[in-house]
Amino acid sequence: METFFIEYRDPMFGIIILFTLVFIISFVNYWWGVFKSKEERHSIAQFIKRFEVTSDEDGYKKLLDEFAVPSESLGLLAHSYSKSGDYEKAIGIYLLALKRVKDRDEKQYILTELGKTYFKAGFLRRSAEVFLEALRLYPRNQEALKYLTVSYEKLKEYDRSLEALDALEEMGVDTAIQKDYLKARKVLSDESATFSQKESVLKELSKRFSPAKRMLLELWIEHARAIPWDEVAQFDPMEVMDLIWYMDPSAINVKAFKNPIFLALLKAKGLNVKSSNKSLFELDVLGILRDNNYKEAGLSFEFTCQNCKQTFPIHFYRCPVCHTLGSGKIEPIITKERLETSLPF
Ligand SMILES: [Zn+2]
Repeated sequence: METFFIEYRDPMFGIIILFTLVFIISFVNYWWGVFKSKEERHSIAQFIKRFEVTSDEDGYKKLLDEFAVPSESLGLLAHSYSKSGDYEKAIGIYLLALKRVKDRDEKQYILTELGKTYFKAGFLRRSAEVFLEALRLYPRNQEALKYLTVSYEKLKEYDRSLEALDALEEMGVDTAIQKDYLKARKVLSDESATFSQKESVLKELSKRFSPAKRMLLELWIEHARAIPWDEVAQFDPMEVMDLIWYMDPSAINVKAFKNPIFLALLKAKGLNVKSSNKSLFELDVLGILRDNNYKEAGLSFEFTCQNCKQTFPIHFYRCPVCHTLGSGKIEPIITKERLETSLPF
């Protein structure tokens, strides 16, 4: 016993105990770490496995098919996928719903929605085919016809687009503006048409279709032709303001203009004209700055769709989002002057 106490008091004994404890703690800690990382790996693997079903296209289709989800629910599901921009899934579910649906009305509804999804995803040819199928079932489907018109227009198949408009017109829809717009687009994209042919078609259309005036000005600028300023002065300044702003000031015949908005625009541009400073706020402010010899401010433009209220940095005749024709409004914005004297195209 005494020997034990002697050994217990020996400093070597304490050191051995200390090292043993350190060893045990390190050992336990190491195995605990190994165990935890193994458990974590397993749990991540389980997590991924759970989501693999939804990321695999065939998997979710199989799942929806096996559970015999009603076609109405499939339609709603596809609609929400389409709204969130997941067109691939939306198309897959619409196709599944299409296989299951028996009712003729439901079928044409799903076909129309499928066509719209293809359209939004940019598959224009396919969307046109689906709309045609929808129309085969129900020829008075106005929505399908409207989308079909725009699909053909985007595919530059203007004659087919005009035919679709004829069908809409027979249903009592006013298609006059759409038709004039398509006629203008058709001649402008016709490579065999000469400048004079394009100009005369646009001039004829401009008598009843106001956007053709802007198209004419764009045509003159694009072909570097002498611009008939007396004619331009009669245009609506709110339709061509941005084009005039970016033009070479020395090329503009200021004497032709009488409209106060045009005069304010030319003054804001630094041209020597008299303006009452009672036109548009932005133009008037720039005019006053010019009067006070401040030349650091300029204009930039935003283009807002008055139908869907979306704003775009470039001009459009047909809204890229809601596809409404002639809904664009040019909004001038005062900015720091940039050294941009030419048109952005
Ligand atoms: Zn719009």
